[in-house]
Amino acid sequence: MFEETQDLFAQHILLTPGPTPIHPRAQRALQRGMLGHMDPEVFALNGEIQQGLREMYGTAPDTFTALLAGTGSLGMEAGFANLVEPGDEVLVCVNGSFGARMAEMAGRYGARVRQVTAPLGEAINPADVAAQLGGAALVAVVHGETSTGVLNPVPEIAELVRRSGALLTVDAVTTAGMEPFRMRDWGIDYVYTGAQKCLSAPPGLAPVAISDRALARYAARRTPTPLWYCDFGGLRDYWVDHSYHHTVPVNLHYAFHAALNAALEEGLEARRTRVAELGRAIVTTLAPLGFTPYVTDPATRLPTVLALRLPQGFDDAGIRRALRAREISVTGGLGPTAGLIWRLGLMGEAARPAPYRALMAALEDLLG
Ligand code: PLP
Repeated sequence: MFEETQDLFAQHILLTPGPTPIHPRAQRALQRGMLGHMDPEVFALNGEIQQGLREMYGTAPDTFTALLAGTGSLGMEAGFANLVEPGDEVLVCVNGSFGARMAEMAGRYGARVRQVTAPLGEAINPADVAAQLGGAALVAVVHGETSTGVLNPVPEIAELVRRSGALLTVDAVTTAGMEPFRMRDWGIDYVYTGAQKCLSAPPGLAPVAISDRALARYAARRTPTPLWYCDFGGLRDYWVDHSYHHTVPVNLHYAFHAALNAALEEGLEARRTRVAELGRAIVTTLAPLGFTPYVTDPATRLPTVLALRLPQGFDDAGIRRALRAREISVTGGLGPTAGLIWRLGLMGEAARPAPYRALMAALEDLLG
Protein backbone atom coordinates (compact mmCIF):
# COMPACT_ATOMS: atom_id res chain seq x y z
CA MET A 1 0.00 0.00 0.00
CA PHE A 2 1.21 3.51 -0.73
CA GLU A 3 2.08 5.18 2.60
CA GLU A 4 0.64 8.67 2.81
CA THR A 5 2.25 9.61 6.08
CA GLN A 6 5.84 8.60 5.50
CA ASP A 7 8.39 10.49 3.43
CA LEU A 8 9.19 7.30 1.57
CA PHE A 9 11.27 8.70 -1.24
CA ALA A 10 13.27 11.36 0.58
CA GLN A 11 16.53 9.48 0.06
CA HIS A 12 15.95 8.29 -3.48
CA ILE A 13 18.59 9.31 -6.03
CA LEU A 14 16.97 10.01 -9.37
CA LEU A 15 19.50 10.10 -12.22
CA THR A 16 17.11 9.37 -15.08
CA PRO A 17 16.53 11.53 -18.18
CA GLY A 18 13.45 12.93 -16.43
CA PRO A 19 11.76 13.53 -14.19
CA THR A 20 14.54 15.19 -12.22
CA PRO A 21 14.67 15.71 -8.44
CA ILE A 22 12.39 18.59 -7.47
CA HIS A 23 14.25 21.78 -6.56
CA PRO A 24 13.94 22.45 -2.79
CA ARG A 25 12.37 25.85 -3.47
CA ALA A 26 9.75 24.23 -5.73
CA GLN A 27 9.11 21.58 -3.10
CA ARG A 28 8.47 24.26 -0.49
CA ALA A 29 6.21 26.21 -2.85
CA LEU A 30 3.94 23.15 -3.10
CA GLN A 31 3.01 23.69 0.56
CA ARG A 32 1.37 27.06 -0.16
CA GLY A 33 -2.35 27.39 0.40
CA MET A 34 -4.79 27.09 -2.48
CA LEU A 35 -5.90 30.13 -4.44
CA GLY A 36 -8.33 30.31 -7.33
CA HIS A 37 -7.05 30.37 -10.90
CA MET A 38 -8.80 33.76 -11.40
CA ASP A 39 -7.36 35.38 -8.26
CA PRO A 40 -5.25 38.51 -8.78
CA GLU A 41 -2.29 36.97 -6.92
CA VAL A 42 -2.26 34.08 -9.37
CA PHE A 43 -2.37 36.42 -12.37
CA ALA A 44 0.56 38.34 -10.86
CA LEU A 45 2.47 35.06 -10.40
CA ASN A 46 1.61 34.01 -13.95
CA GLY A 47 2.91 37.33 -15.25
CA GLU A 48 6.25 36.70 -13.58
CA ILE A 49 6.35 33.20 -15.02
CA GLN A 50 5.69 34.59 -18.51
CA GLN A 51 8.51 37.09 -18.09
CA GLY A 52 10.87 34.40 -16.79
CA LEU A 53 10.05 32.19 -19.75
CA ARG A 54 10.94 35.02 -22.14
CA GLU A 55 14.35 35.11 -20.49
CA MET A 56 14.76 31.33 -20.47
CA TYR A 57 13.86 31.00 -24.16
CA GLY A 58 15.61 34.19 -25.30
CA THR A 59 12.50 35.65 -26.94
CA ALA A 60 11.58 39.15 -28.09
CA PRO A 61 10.36 41.35 -25.18
CA ASP A 62 6.68 40.88 -26.02
CA THR A 63 6.64 37.25 -27.20
CA PHE A 64 3.66 35.27 -25.96
CA THR A 65 4.66 32.68 -23.37
CA ALA A 66 2.46 30.43 -21.24
CA LEU A 67 2.24 27.19 -19.33
CA LEU A 68 0.13 24.38 -20.75
CA ALA A 69 -1.50 22.12 -18.19
CA GLY A 70 0.14 18.88 -19.26
CA THR A 71 3.56 17.34 -19.85
CA GLY A 72 6.08 17.94 -22.61
CA SER A 73 4.06 15.86 -25.05
CA LEU A 74 1.20 18.34 -24.73
CA GLY A 75 3.64 21.08 -25.65
CA MET A 76 4.52 19.07 -28.75
CA GLU A 77 0.91 18.35 -29.62
CA ALA A 78 -0.29 21.94 -29.12
CA GLY A 79 2.23 23.15 -31.70
CA PHE A 80 0.98 20.80 -34.39
CA ALA A 81 -2.68 21.27 -33.45
CA ASN A 82 -2.47 25.05 -33.90
CA LEU A 83 0.03 25.34 -36.75
CA VAL A 84 -1.00 22.49 -39.06
CA GLU A 85 -4.08 22.23 -41.24
CA PRO A 86 -5.08 19.15 -43.20
CA GLY A 87 -2.94 18.79 -46.30
CA ASP A 88 -0.07 21.00 -45.09
CA GLU A 89 3.40 19.70 -45.82
CA VAL A 90 5.40 19.23 -42.65
CA LEU A 91 9.07 18.27 -42.61
CA VAL A 92 10.07 16.44 -39.44
CA CYS A 93 13.67 15.68 -38.43
CA VAL A 94 13.76 12.14 -37.06
CA ASN A 95 16.85 10.66 -35.41
CA GLY A 96 15.24 9.00 -32.42
CA SER A 97 12.01 8.27 -30.58
CA PHE A 98 10.96 11.87 -29.94
CA GLY A 99 11.45 12.96 -33.54
CA ALA A 100 9.34 9.94 -34.47
CA ARG A 101 6.68 11.08 -31.98
CA MET A 102 6.60 14.48 -33.68
CA ALA A 103 6.10 12.86 -37.08
CA GLU A 104 3.27 10.72 -35.69
CA MET A 105 1.51 13.72 -34.14
CA ALA A 106 1.85 15.92 -37.21
CA GLY A 107 0.28 13.12 -39.26
CA ARG A 108 -2.66 12.85 -36.87
CA TYR A 109 -3.43 16.54 -37.46
CA GLY A 110 -3.65 15.88 -41.17
CA ALA A 111 -0.17 16.92 -42.27
CA ARG A 112 1.51 15.35 -45.24
CA VAL A 113 4.65 14.39 -43.36
CA ARG A 114 8.10 14.07 -44.88
CA GLN A 115 11.05 13.01 -42.77
CA VAL A 116 14.70 14.00 -42.69
CA THR A 117 16.49 11.17 -40.94
CA ALA A 118 19.91 10.42 -39.51
CA PRO A 119 21.29 7.15 -38.14
CA LEU A 120 20.83 6.55 -34.41
CA GLY A 121 23.52 8.30 -32.41
CA GLU A 122 24.11 10.90 -35.15
CA ALA A 123 22.78 14.43 -35.53
CA ILE A 124 20.51 15.65 -38.33
CA ASN A 125 22.59 17.08 -41.16
CA PRO A 126 21.38 20.62 -42.05
CA ALA A 127 22.22 19.94 -45.72
CA ASP A 128 19.62 17.13 -45.68
CA VAL A 129 17.05 19.58 -44.32
CA ALA A 130 17.93 22.10 -47.03
CA ALA A 131 17.46 19.44 -49.69
CA GLN A 132 13.89 18.70 -48.58
CA LEU A 133 12.65 22.15 -47.54
CA GLY A 134 10.77 23.00 -50.74
CA GLY A 135 7.03 23.17 -50.16
CA ALA A 136 7.15 22.69 -46.39
CA ALA A 137 4.82 24.92 -44.38
CA LEU A 138 6.32 23.80 -41.07
CA VAL A 139 9.57 22.14 -39.99
CA ALA A 140 9.94 20.33 -36.67
CA VAL A 141 13.10 19.27 -34.87
CA VAL A 142 14.05 17.94 -31.45
CA HIS A 143 16.95 19.93 -30.00
CA GLY A 144 18.18 17.23 -27.62
CA GLU A 145 17.09 13.71 -28.68
CA THR A 146 16.70 12.03 -25.30
CA SER A 147 16.49 8.52 -26.69
CA THR A 148 20.07 8.63 -28.02
CA GLY A 149 21.75 11.59 -26.28
CA VAL A 150 22.25 13.55 -29.50
CA LEU A 151 22.19 17.35 -29.80
CA ASN A 152 20.76 18.48 -33.13
CA PRO A 153 22.16 21.65 -34.79
CA VAL A 154 19.09 23.84 -34.23
CA PRO A 155 20.70 27.24 -35.04
CA GLU A 156 21.93 25.98 -38.43
CA ILE A 157 18.62 24.32 -39.26
CA ALA A 158 16.73 27.43 -38.13
CA GLU A 159 18.71 29.65 -40.48
CA LEU A 160 17.76 27.48 -43.45
CA VAL A 161 14.12 27.27 -42.45
CA ARG A 162 13.90 31.01 -41.94
CA ARG A 163 15.10 31.65 -45.48
CA SER A 164 12.51 29.21 -46.86
CA GLY A 165 9.57 31.02 -45.22
CA ALA A 166 8.40 27.91 -43.32
CA LEU A 167 7.71 27.99 -39.59
CA LEU A 168 9.99 26.11 -37.20
CA THR A 169 8.89 24.15 -34.11
CA VAL A 170 11.62 23.11 -31.68
CA ASP A 171 11.37 20.52 -28.92
CA ALA A 172 13.62 21.93 -26.19
CA VAL A 173 12.54 19.42 -23.56
CA THR A 174 16.07 18.42 -22.57
CA THR A 175 17.83 21.71 -23.28
CA ALA A 176 15.83 24.82 -22.31
CA GLY A 177 16.64 25.97 -18.79
CA MET A 178 20.03 24.33 -18.68
CA GLU A 179 21.80 26.64 -21.09
CA PRO A 180 20.97 29.76 -23.09
CA PHE A 181 18.32 29.22 -25.78
CA ARG A 182 17.93 31.98 -28.38
CA MET A 183 14.46 31.83 -29.84
CA ARG A 184 14.60 35.30 -31.36
CA ASP A 185 18.18 35.22 -32.65
CA TRP A 186 17.86 31.74 -34.12
CA GLY A 187 14.41 32.48 -35.61
CA ILE A 188 12.20 29.89 -33.94
CA ASP A 189 8.42 30.08 -34.03
CA TYR A 190 7.26 27.60 -31.43
CA VAL A 191 9.20 26.03 -28.58
CA TYR A 192 8.23 23.92 -25.60
CA THR A 193 9.71 21.94 -22.75
CA GLY A 194 8.44 19.96 -19.76
CA ALA A 195 8.58 21.37 -16.22
CA GLN A 196 10.08 18.16 -14.82
CA LYS A 197 13.23 18.27 -16.94
CA CYS A 198 15.87 21.02 -16.80
CA LEU A 199 13.95 23.17 -14.32
CA SER A 200 13.38 20.46 -11.71
CA ALA A 201 9.76 21.45 -11.16
CA PRO A 202 7.04 18.82 -10.72
CA PRO A 203 5.72 17.17 -13.90
CA GLY A 204 2.44 18.42 -15.33
CA LEU A 205 3.29 21.72 -17.02
CA ALA A 206 4.61 22.47 -20.49
CA PRO A 207 6.13 25.97 -20.82
CA VAL A 208 5.75 27.29 -24.37
CA ALA A 209 6.77 30.37 -26.36
CA ILE A 210 5.00 31.33 -29.58
CA SER A 211 6.37 33.81 -32.11
CA ASP A 212 4.30 36.51 -33.79
CA ARG A 213 4.70 34.66 -37.08
CA ALA A 214 3.22 31.55 -35.51
CA LEU A 215 0.34 33.56 -34.07
CA ALA A 216 -0.28 35.07 -37.52
CA ARG A 217 -0.37 31.56 -39.03
CA TYR A 218 -2.84 30.54 -36.34
CA ALA A 219 -5.00 33.62 -36.98
CA ALA A 220 -5.15 32.77 -40.70
CA ARG A 221 -6.40 29.20 -40.15
CA ARG A 222 -9.21 28.05 -42.43
CA THR A 223 -10.41 25.60 -39.77
CA PRO A 224 -10.57 25.91 -35.97
CA THR A 225 -7.73 24.33 -33.99
CA PRO A 226 -8.95 20.77 -33.38
CA LEU A 227 -7.42 20.65 -29.87
CA TRP A 228 -9.75 23.01 -27.96
CA TYR A 229 -7.80 22.71 -24.69
CA CYS A 230 -4.64 24.31 -26.12
CA ASP A 231 -6.11 26.56 -28.80
CA PHE A 232 -3.70 29.53 -28.97
CA GLY A 233 -6.65 31.94 -28.79
CA GLY A 234 -8.01 30.24 -25.69
CA LEU A 235 -4.58 30.36 -24.07
CA ARG A 236 -4.37 34.06 -24.76
CA ASP A 237 -7.83 34.57 -23.28
CA TYR A 238 -6.47 33.37 -19.94
CA TRP A 239 -2.81 34.43 -20.02
CA VAL A 240 -3.22 37.83 -21.68
CA ASP A 241 -6.84 38.92 -21.16
CA HIS A 242 -7.26 37.18 -17.79
CA SER A 243 -10.60 35.66 -18.71
CA TYR A 244 -11.58 32.09 -17.90
CA HIS A 245 -10.57 29.33 -20.29
CA HIS A 246 -9.88 26.30 -18.09
CA THR A 247 -8.81 25.76 -14.48
CA VAL A 248 -5.03 25.93 -14.42
CA PRO A 249 -3.16 23.80 -11.81
CA VAL A 250 -2.35 26.66 -9.45
CA ASN A 251 -0.16 24.64 -7.06
CA LEU A 252 2.03 23.51 -9.95
CA HIS A 253 2.32 27.15 -11.02
CA TYR A 254 3.64 28.03 -7.54
CA ALA A 255 6.29 25.35 -7.77
CA PHE A 256 7.18 26.17 -11.37
CA HIS A 257 7.60 29.85 -10.51
CA ALA A 258 10.03 28.95 -7.71
CA ALA A 259 12.04 26.55 -9.88
CA LEU A 260 12.23 28.97 -12.80
CA ASN A 261 13.41 31.79 -10.54
CA ALA A 262 16.06 29.51 -9.06
CA ALA A 263 17.35 28.64 -12.54
CA LEU A 264 17.45 32.25 -13.72
CA GLU A 265 19.14 33.39 -10.51
CA GLU A 266 21.84 30.76 -10.97
CA GLY A 267 22.19 31.91 -14.59
CA LEU A 268 21.91 29.86 -17.77
CA GLU A 269 25.64 30.16 -18.58
CA ALA A 270 26.51 28.94 -15.08
CA ARG A 271 24.15 26.01 -15.50
CA ARG A 272 25.72 25.13 -18.83
CA THR A 273 29.14 25.08 -17.16
CA ARG A 274 27.86 22.99 -14.24
CA VAL A 275 26.53 20.31 -16.60
CA ALA A 276 29.57 20.30 -18.87
CA GLU A 277 32.02 19.91 -15.98
CA LEU A 278 30.04 17.16 -14.32
CA GLY A 279 29.55 15.32 -17.63
CA ARG A 280 33.32 15.32 -18.29
CA ALA A 281 34.01 14.04 -14.77
CA ILE A 282 31.49 11.21 -15.17
CA VAL A 283 32.96 10.09 -18.51
CA THR A 284 36.47 10.08 -17.00
CA THR A 285 35.39 8.24 -13.85
CA LEU A 286 33.39 5.57 -15.67
CA ALA A 287 35.99 4.90 -18.39
CA PRO A 288 38.01 2.43 -16.27
CA LEU A 289 34.79 0.44 -15.74
CA GLY A 290 34.41 0.11 -19.53
CA PHE A 291 31.74 2.75 -20.26
CA THR A 292 32.36 4.89 -23.36
CA PRO A 293 30.35 7.79 -24.86
CA TYR A 294 27.74 6.45 -27.28
CA VAL A 295 27.73 9.61 -29.40
CA THR A 296 31.15 9.58 -31.00
CA ASP A 297 31.20 13.19 -32.26
CA PRO A 298 31.66 15.36 -29.12
CA ALA A 299 30.10 18.36 -30.90
CA THR A 300 26.77 16.55 -31.16
CA ARG A 301 26.76 15.07 -27.66
CA LEU A 302 23.78 16.24 -25.62
CA PRO A 303 25.25 17.54 -22.33
CA THR A 304 22.06 16.99 -20.32
CA VAL A 305 21.46 13.34 -21.21
CA LEU A 306 24.75 11.50 -21.20
CA ALA A 307 24.44 8.36 -23.31
CA LEU A 308 27.08 5.79 -22.43
CA ARG A 309 27.75 2.55 -24.27
CA LEU A 310 27.77 -0.35 -21.83
CA PRO A 311 30.86 -2.50 -21.30
CA GLN A 312 31.06 -5.91 -23.04
CA GLY A 313 28.98 -8.56 -21.26
CA PHE A 314 27.44 -6.02 -18.88
CA ASP A 315 24.29 -7.20 -17.06
CA ASP A 316 22.20 -4.10 -17.83
CA ALA A 317 18.93 -5.09 -16.18
CA GLY A 318 20.60 -6.85 -13.23
CA ILE A 319 22.87 -3.94 -12.33
CA ARG A 320 20.07 -1.42 -12.63
CA ARG A 321 17.94 -3.60 -10.35
CA ALA A 322 20.78 -3.77 -7.83
CA LEU A 323 21.20 0.01 -7.99
CA ARG A 324 17.45 0.45 -7.52
CA ALA A 325 17.67 -1.66 -4.36
CA ARG A 326 20.21 0.91 -3.14
CA GLU A 327 17.77 3.75 -3.98
CA ILE A 328 19.56 4.85 -7.17
CA SER A 329 17.64 5.04 -10.47
CA VAL A 330 19.40 5.12 -13.83
CA THR A 331 17.81 4.51 -17.21
CA GLY A 332 18.79 2.18 -20.03
CA GLY A 333 18.35 2.68 -23.75
CA LEU A 334 15.00 3.23 -25.46
CA GLY A 335 13.84 1.07 -28.38
CA PRO A 336 16.81 0.10 -30.53
CA THR A 337 19.35 1.26 -27.92
CA ALA A 338 17.89 -0.92 -25.13
CA GLY A 339 20.63 -3.14 -23.69
CA LEU A 340 23.26 -1.08 -25.52
CA ILE A 341 23.43 2.16 -23.54
CA TRP A 342 22.62 3.91 -20.30
CA ARG A 343 21.22 7.43 -20.36
CA LEU A 344 22.31 9.45 -17.34
CA GLY A 345 20.24 12.53 -16.58
CA LEU A 346 22.19 15.74 -16.03
CA MET A 347 19.26 18.08 -16.03
CA GLY A 348 18.43 20.52 -13.24
CA GLU A 349 19.01 19.14 -9.76
CA ALA A 350 20.25 15.80 -11.14
CA ALA A 351 23.40 17.59 -12.32
CA ARG A 352 25.06 17.69 -8.90
CA PRO A 353 28.27 15.93 -7.83
CA ALA A 354 26.87 14.27 -4.68
CA PRO A 355 24.32 11.93 -6.33
CA TYR A 356 26.85 10.97 -8.99
CA ARG A 357 29.45 10.19 -6.34
CA ALA A 358 26.88 7.84 -4.81
CA LEU A 359 26.36 6.19 -8.22
CA MET A 360 30.12 5.75 -8.78
CA ALA A 361 30.62 4.25 -5.32
CA ALA A 362 27.72 1.82 -5.83
CA LEU A 363 28.99 0.80 -9.27
CA GLU A 364 32.53 0.22 -8.06
CA ASP A 365 31.10 -1.90 -5.30
CA LEU A 366 28.84 -3.93 -7.60
CA LEU A 367 31.34 -4.38 -10.44
CA GLY A 368 34.58 -4.43 -8.52
N1 PLP B 1 10.46 15.36 -26.12
C1 PLP B 1 11.59 14.92 -25.57
C2 PLP B 1 12.89 15.26 -26.21
C3 PLP B 1 11.56 14.16 -24.40
O1 PLP B 1 12.69 13.75 -23.83
C4 PLP B 1 10.31 13.88 -23.81
C5 PLP B 1 10.25 13.06 -22.58
O2 PLP B 1 11.20 12.48 -22.14
C6 PLP B 1 9.16 14.35 -24.42
C7 PLP B 1 9.26 15.10 -25.57
C8 PLP B 1 7.81 14.06 -23.86
O3 PLP B 1 7.68 14.67 -22.63
P1 PLP B 1 6.65 14.12 -21.53
O4 PLP B 1 7.09 12.75 -21.15
O5 PLP B 1 6.82 15.14 -20.43
O6 PLP B 1 5.30 14.16 -22.13
